[in-house]
Amino acid sequence: MSEELIEIRGLRKSFGRGDARLEVLKGIDLSVHRGEVMGVIGVSGAGKSTLVRCINRLEPWDEGTIRIGGEDMGALSEGALNRKRQKIGMIFQQFNLLNSCTVFDNIALPLRYLRKRPEEIRQRVQRLLEIVDLTQKAHAYPSQLSGGQKQRVAIARALANEPEILLSDEATSALDPQTTESILRLLRRLNRELGLTIIVITHEMDVIRDICDRVAVIEKGEIQEIGTTYDVFAAPRSAVAQRFVSSIIRDDGGARLRTQSIRSEPAGGVPVRLRIQGGETEDPLQRLMRCYGLRARVLYGDVELVDGRSVGCYVARLDGEAEQIQAALNDMPAMTRIETEARTDD
Ligand code: ADP
Ligand code: MG
Repeated sequence: MSEELIEIRGLRKSFGRGDARLEVLKGIDLSVHRGEVMGVIGVSGAGKSTLVRCINRLEPWDEGTIRIGGEDMGALSEGALNRKRQKIGMIFQQFNLLNSCTVFDNIALPLRYLRKRPEEIRQRVQRLLEIVDLTQKAHAYPSQLSGGQKQRVAIARALANEPEILLSDEATSALDPQTTESILRLLRRLNRELGLTIIVITHEMDVIRDICDRVAVIEKGEIQEIGTTYDVFAAPRSAVAQRFVSSIIRDDGGARLRTQSIRSEPAGGVPVRLRIQGGETEDPLQRLMRCYGLRARVLYGDVELVDGRSVGCYVARLDGEAEQIQAALNDMPAMTRIETEARTDD
């Protein structure tokens, strides 16, 4: 998975002129490998939709280059651009279906536009309906569908011309968590089974966790951090990535313990915070027991599974010999002692 399908270099884009000029993309560099699911996460207004619209040249840009499959998108003629766009599907938060057309006709639209033969269209739409599991709804109208079903129609339509790239701009943002999960599962399956390269634009870190191989974190038109989803979850470097990760993994370093201690008697033992990162061959709690004879009681924690590996933290109390506790603290950099305030009543 090392071949670069999309290469964006020094992309700059602004809207308006003079005093009203707003620089929205400030020199974006981004490579997307063939066959990967690449996430782009940022808060509203960060420039995500503008970026994704530049990729298929729906939006012109001021500086920089975008290459797709080695071709310079900025240099394509209208005809060549139209052919290229057929290989780039796009889905949106608001589905963009034609309400006066049936599900079948919505999916057939891009094929009719290319004047494919009716029999070919029928077969292809049938196949697409199977892929998105909507065969029963072929003759329904969008108003008769749930949000998740509408997005499935939009996905089928986006796949009609057998694209090699799918751009997904907040495709699950209007859906409830369960429907989101089923749409993400469908996208993952399309990625695996069709080798579809997908760019997932989102403001939700759980979308990144659930399907992205890598993630780029964008803030105010600049990419602050790019890495594998696991690496960004395990060790976010930029402030903005840290904020996104903390929206999923609550890691307050023991603050809750200190708050609780005001209300209840401290339960004894030494409070510690343990960072959990996959890759460890032995659970740190087991290690505390095996190597130091310490008993660890988990008080609370937040551990997530990212790409099959655990990431997160526990807060625990250690019981055992003081020397052994100190030895464990010295040996295990992922474990730190939580300082609880000295009690004033003793
Ligand atoms: P995101 O998708 O991350 O929410 P957008 O790319 O939609 O961000 O927008 C980034 C910034 O560009 C916002 O401040 C937005 O108001 C501005 N913007 C987007 N499109 C236009 C446009 N057509 N004209 C003027 N400003 C725009
Ligand atoms: Mg947007």
